[in-house]
Amino acid sequence: MHLTNADLHSHSNVSDGTLTPEDLAARAHAKGVQLWSLTDHDELGGQERACSTALALGMDYLSGTEISVSFAGETVHIVGLGFDAADATLQAGLATTRGGRLQRARDMAAGLASVGIEGAFEGALRYVSNPDLISRTHFARYLVDSGVCTDTHSVFRRYLTQGHPGFVPHSWARLGDAVRWITQAGGVAVIAHPARYRFTPTEEYALITEFIAHGGQGMEVMTGSHSHSEQVKYADTALEFGLLASRGSDFHSPTESRVELGSLPDLPGKLRPVWDALQHRIQRAHRSASQTTAA
Ligand code: AMP
Ligand code: MN
Ligand code: MN
Ligand code: MN
Repeated sequence: MHLTNADLHSHSNVSDGTLTPEDLAARAHAKGVQLWSLTDHDELGGQERACSTALALGMDYLSGTEISVSFAGETVHIVGLGFDAADATLQAGLATTRGGRLQRARDMAAGLASVGIEGAFEGALRYVSNPDLISRTHFARYLVDSGVCTDTHSVFRRYLTQGHPGFVPHSWARLGDAVRWITQAGGVAVIAHPARYRFTPTEEYALITEFIAHGGQGMEVMTGSHSHSEQVKYADTALEFGLLASRGSDFHSPTESRVELGSLPDLPGKLRPVWDALQHRIQRAHRSASQTTAA
């Protein structure tokens, strides 16, 4: 059987990745990805550049985004795939979702200043290509480069997570709204990296059942932040709830990301890949005879 090397979760510098959409497309293609999606946080600004570069390279493309949602006191990420990127309701929903980021960043900087770290807002902004999308990742890069911490993971642990001085609670989109923006634009909604949420089993059950009730259809099983046992657990969960399974590295940067584009294990054969249900939404590259391999 011919398995598609699909990578349906990655970030460019239009959100908190470090590569441009063009360079990310080129890297995905070089790493063997055959079906790719750029899923910048709360933002579609890189979609056209990503899609046109992918198609020119001979790589198929699905539109993508990763929406920040507040659910049961936790931030949950919902990936949208294969939607119409020109959809006005989706665009307006994403604009509202990212709208509070600048003020949040100022409040984060004030929290950091209270423990003696001055100038973090201006510092983080220097790492930002799209000011609408200033994120904790940009603060983390600034705090590493200015010598406060040795790596981005320890910045999150010491400063940017709940209970630490640079953490600011934030109200993101509602689960039902995010799912509907995606599905009403013709796409499929996917629960991103389900193992990363600090939920009790009851809260996780509520997330999955409410997500499905709102029209959500997919779950990431193979993602850069899942351990082997988490891959196994969420393969079973996807099967149990009849969800389509997705695969995506969540690649952000050649120096920061542990998992390379296109390098995760294939989905277990018992699962239905999300791209099976999105065949009609895939933008297909017109391959020359030399680029086409037998299926
Ligand atoms: P934000 O949307 O501003 O809250 O930033 C969230 C982003 O921070 C995520 O998309 C990840 O890219 C990054 N992130 C979250 N937790 C960590 C962590 N522990 N280590 C490194 N990066 C993280
Ligand atoms: Mn990110
Ligand atoms: Mn995420
Ligand atoms: Mn992501």
